[in-house]
Amino acid sequence: MSVATIEQVNSLISPKVQKYVTSHRRMLINGDWVDAKTGDTFHVYNPATGEILSNVAAGDHADVDLAVRAARRAFEEGPWSRMTHGQRGKLIWKLADLIEENLEEFAEIESVDNGKPLAVARVADIPLATDLFRYMSGWTTKIEGQTISLSSLPQEYFAYTLREPVGVVGQIIPWNFPLLMAAWKLGPALAAGCTIVLKPAEQTPLSALRLGELIEEAGFPKGVVNIVTGYGETAGAALAAHPDIDKIAFTGSTEVGKLIVHAAAGNLKKVSLELGGKSPNIVFADADLETAIQGATNAIYFNHGQCCCAGSRLYIEKEIFDQVVEGVSANAKRINVTEGLNPQCDMGPLVSEEQLDRVLGFIESGEKEGAKTVIGGHRLGDHGYFVEPTLITNAHAGMKVIDEEIFGPVVCALPFEKTEEVATQMNQTAYGLAGAVWTKDISKAHRFAKAMRAGTVWINCYNIFDAALPFGGYKQSGWGREMGREVLEHYTEVKAVCLKM
Ligand code: NAP
Ligand code: MG
Repeated sequence: MSVATIEQVNSLISPKVQKYVTSHRRMLINGDWVDAKTGDTFHVYNPATGEILSNVAAGDHADVDLAVRAARRAFEEGPWSRMTHGQRGKLIWKLADLIEENLEEFAEIESVDNGKPLAVARVADIPLATDLFRYMSGWTTKIEGQTISLSSLPQEYFAYTLREPVGVVGQIIPWNFPLLMAAWKLGPALAAGCTIVLKPAEQTPLSALRLGELIEEAGFPKGVVNIVTGYGETAGAALAAHPDIDKIAFTGSTEVGKLIVHAAAGNLKKVSLELGGKSPNIVFADADLETAIQGATNAIYFNHGQCCCAGSRLYIEKEIFDQVVEGVSANAKRINVTEGLNPQCDMGPLVSEEQLDRVLGFIESGEKEGAKTVIGGHRLGDHGYFVEPTLITNAHAGMKVIDEEIFGPVVCALPFEKTEEVATQMNQTAYGLAGAVWTKDISKAHRFAKAMRAGTVWINCYNIFDAALPFGGYKQSGWGREMGREVLEHYTEVKAVCLKM
């Protein structure tokens, strides 16, 4: 593990992306690239160096208001509302093509802005985003109502339902998969025929702004997608509270998710939330251990553990506990933690100084409460936000490291003796986003899949996503689902039409 010098990190950025990320960036409102009304900007940092990358317009309520007005006009009067469903689908597909044509540039922007390995952005973030848009483009022509067989009304009544776009949508996204989270939000809203005001995370707004350029290039009418950059407490809060927004979709922390719910109450806008997790990953002694050990490693360390569904509570059957802990530790030691643009990088820096402090704080709290840090536990280097892959044992429910989302490369390994015991423990959490079981016993696998109170259960795999698979949380992990046909329900309203013949 070696952290490069600031000069080395900067020398890896291509001239094209260097120019893009370091120039002053404006917001997209009603088809124009504009500064904030106040003229304020905020800094975006390179997490591998801690240096300022760019200055971005700091939007606030006045800018959100302009964007909402533009989205309202585009929804009610513009060419968007008159387009055929097929034309809408073509535009969404075109956007996917444009992202694909610019895959290298997007992957690099993502790596520089978020810190993730370039190689990961290339094979995961960007292709998953294009696939999501393509999948959603197909839905434009398949969002349908029904003719209804009436229950007690006489035959002269005829009724059907229409499924209509919910209207103007506010979308607030986090920094862990910046482009992909934008795609998860925009894709279904566009497919349904909504118009949008999107607020990217202050840490990582750059790929969403580049996407805005491609949205224009694809030919979406002005005002259909507006992108307001700014802080959560100002721009985000203004979106959540805006009286002319019909629906707000949020991904981020459970804490802010609750604020969104309160803010949305003013006009009772629809709300969907994709929030945190503390996902159980259960390895039984009858599993294919080689695969399970590799799977448990990826479950937590993929994207530096900055995944809402990270397998952060690793339950291991007692007789194989030492073997799995040693295996995951050995894998973790081989993870090359270095700057994301380095071709040898397996894990880059955490996204921000705030996250660095937060993650180290969790590790320290675990140690204070009696947990044992088996590997890792420290910051790497003295610039950038690098943390060693960390594995903790001797922790138990009631400790912060077990009960709370760390959102970093930190896994807690917990031994269990009896199947019934782990079946209870896996659900002892306020969250319910995802989880996994590793076993060759298919009956046990399906029993656990059913018993787990979570929106996604993986069997003998982890972190597997597909645009067609709904993703979202039980309990405090959220309301509603992303992706799949399910997400379209959040962007549509059902209207019953009844006729007396
Ligand atoms: P966060 O504050 O929940 O940020 C998510 C998004 O919400 C960002 O766009 C943020 O804007 C915005 N936001 C913040 N406060 C808001 C408010 N009062 N009203 C409206 N929008 C608001 O998450 P974070 O601070 O970046 O990370 C903190 C923790 O959240 C992490 O450690 C992790 O546990 C969790 N998290 C979970 C996910 C997930 O996918 N489930 C993703 C990210 C973080 P700004 O970025 O401009 O503040
Ligand atoms: Mg924040």
